[in-house]
Amino acid sequence: MATRHPGPLAGAIARTLLHRMGKQPAEALPRDWLDATILTVRDEIVERWVETTLATQRRALKQVNYLSLEFLVGRLLSDALRNLGRDGEVASALAELGVNLAEIEELEPDAALGNGGLGRLAACFMDSLASLGLPAFGYGIRYVNGMFRQRIDGSGQQVELPETWLAQGNPWEFERRDSVHRVGFGGAWHVVEDGRVRWSPAEYVEAIAVDMPVVGWRGRHVNTLRLWTARAIEPLRLDTFNQGDFAGALADQTRAETLVRVLYPNDSTPAGQELRLRQEYFFASASIQDIVQRHLRAHGTLATLPDKAAIQLNDTHPAIGVAELLRLLIDEHRLPYDEAWDITRRTFAYTNHTLLPEALESWPLPLLGRLLPRHLELIFRINADVLAEAQAGTGSDTAAVEAVSLIDERGERRVRMANLAFAGSHSVNGVAGLHTQLMQQTVFADLHRLYPDRINNKTNGITPRRWLLGSNPGLATLLSEAIGPAFVDDLAQVADIRPLAEDAAFRDRFAVVKQANKAALAAHVASLTGLNLDPAAMFDVQVKRIHEYKRQLLNILHTMVLYERMRAAPQLDWVPRVKLFAGKAASGYATAKQIVRLANDVARRVNADPLIAGRLQVAFLPDYNVSLAERIMPAADLSEQISTAGMEASGTGNMKLALNGALTIGTLDGANVEMREHIGADDMQIFGLTAPEVTRLRERGYDPRESLELLPELKAVLADLAAGRWSDGDQQVYASIIESLLTEDRYLLIADFATYDAAQAALDRRWSNRQEWTASAIRNVAAMGWCSSDRTIAQYAREIWRIAA
Ligand SMILES: *Cc1c(COP(=O)(O)O)cnc(C)c1O
Repeated sequence: MATRHPGPLAGAIARTLLHRMGKQPAEALPRDWLDATILTVRDEIVERWVETTLATQRRALKQVNYLSLEFLVGRLLSDALRNLGRDGEVASALAELGVNLAEIEELEPDAALGNGGLGRLAACFMDSLASLGLPAFGYGIRYVNGMFRQRIDGSGQQVELPETWLAQGNPWEFERRDSVHRVGFGGAWHVVEDGRVRWSPAEYVEAIAVDMPVVGWRGRHVNTLRLWTARAIEPLRLDTFNQGDFAGALADQTRAETLVRVLYPNDSTPAGQELRLRQEYFFASASIQDIVQRHLRAHGTLATLPDKAAIQLNDTHPAIGVAELLRLLIDEHRLPYDEAWDITRRTFAYTNHTLLPEALESWPLPLLGRLLPRHLELIFRINADVLAEAQAGTGSDTAAVEAVSLIDERGERRVRMANLAFAGSHSVNGVAGLHTQLMQQTVFADLHRLYPDRINNKTNGITPRRWLLGSNPGLATLLSEAIGPAFVDDLAQVADIRPLAEDAAFRDRFAVVKQANKAALAAHVASLTGLNLDPAAMFDVQVKRIHEYKRQLLNILHTMVLYERMRAAPQLDWVPRVKLFAGKAASGYATAKQIVRLANDVARRVNADPLIAGRLQVAFLPDYNVSLAERIMPAADLSEQISTAGMEASGTGNMKLALNGALTIGTLDGANVEMREHIGADDMQIFGLTAPEVTRLRERGYDPRESLELLPELKAVLADLAAGRWSDGDQQVYASIIESLLTEDRYLLIADFATYDAAQAALDRRWSNRQEWTASAIRNVAAMGWCSSDRTIAQYAREIWRIAA
């Protein structure tokens, strides 16, 4: 439809293509059009960004600084256009140029800045902060290769490939050569004049800020995502180079770049561990220096830091920042210890994301002392006060005193980052009600007794802009037609559709939207894997990182049992199911990788069996990321949230799926508990042991073999698996999985199998009454106003940061 006289916006995009990229429309590739579109839209965003920054300065507003090792932001163009309200205009302008907006949007790579729920939470929070007009900086690392891209090889195994999201440049970013900070490592500290301490690091790296704008809803407010990249102080040693030692000449630069190469380097080697700690300090130090510098420029004195800056630690990865701020205040700005500690504690707040002991971060004391000697000294100083308070409070209870210590003295001495974060913060929050309660009762029980006002709850949320308006335009349009558009500004209003669950005509329209989303996902899966999914079947999805506690294995074993049942009685009227799995297994996590392989082995066997054709299909979709999630959520009928009770901190996938009209099969874990309060018990399928029951069972002594005796079908499936019948005769591949199930079953799959099976059967019966199923799905959507991250962020603002939202 190219016209002779393009409109102003089309003209602007064509001029960007010519002037900034040096291309004529005739020679432009689709990716060039994408970049030209982003750069054109960016101009407007930058103007609003500057306005936001100036208004914040003029009004001397308190700012939020959200420190996170991950920001799983996904693609940015469609999000930015929607938030600016420009999607329609830009689509027409591009059409004038003969370009399809939806097609070029697909070419934008997902920003490879995160791994899973924690990183996605940070991204949803950034969206909500900007949408609520709260001035904020997100601080993180600009990973060149992210975590990894997941491929599934011919034998069904995960292969990790580098993510190359920056290969063609990143049109969203601005390198700030004036925001550069030196970060030191190693060396020693000594006392200089009047008792001051000076740390003389053995080496320095430079952190350079790379900023990306974060556009809020309706485009009124634009915040900053500031990511650090690293450069050697002396990137090239020319004398060494000229002597012919090229690698040596570039060694410092290589070391610097290693810091920002990948997220979560495998830390099973000492070198990997050291890299990880260096990375955390690099990021925390650069961010804290930056916050201090910006505050001083705006307000002149650090005494007001807690009034003008809140620092939120997203898990313990940036917790060394507590010691870094203290160090800067004392060593550089000459504040007395008590005043510095008071400022530090009033500025920091910490969000805990896990109770699993093996996931609580701690660093060997010698390693931390070698890399950060001055920080270790300050940690000892903080600890002395904490221990004194604990002794004063608990008297002779040495176990309680040991538990609050920042140093783990059992075995090799280690620094406990969670205890450092706890001690250095005025607020410590969990991410769902149950999780917060368990924090108080388990890992932080003694710290909680010592500082009883510190722990609070902020249940996670998701941004409805991406997870409803963006991912499910069909549903958004239907809602808007039915209840008006108010819900787009305030998701709580979505409650208005609840009565329409009783309206047959509305149910039909709702079902039509779901069906179209399923057809779209089926087409995508066909293009990815060659498998043609039956869009009439129940789409039963479990998509999330692969972890034993999330119990993908329970779902897979149940799928195997179901398959055997269908084979044994093919004449019966089975509810057709499509089982969808997606998720990455951490590269060093062998069991998780075997679970990926098993899902693929099961898929291969089931999908090839003509006897059950039309009844059961299984697919493992490779490389789960935000863009894939945006396709899956709107197409799901059933959401699997089946973690061992007490182990999932919150979950946000559960919320995305319910908001998109899936029913949940789940345990009373994480945010499922609160979802049930909002949705109502009748519209969720809850099963399994509760957290207190899990504790009691473990105390009583649990024998998985004994429980298995009552589950002959599961027993038979495990025997077949052991005999290699699901793995081309290979009896070794799954031997260790089976062994650990039979001897320990730490995640209680066997204990929960019967109730899970009963819950799945109940869902089959529900599915057979599709009107009622759809009504239930509608009530699920109606209840999800509460899950908006706008609600979560408003609570953080009021109760932790004390700023007006
Ligand atoms: C939402 C999301 C997650 C978190 O899923 P959970 O089910 O809460 O573990 C992980 N990865 C991606 C890409 C997501 O969008």
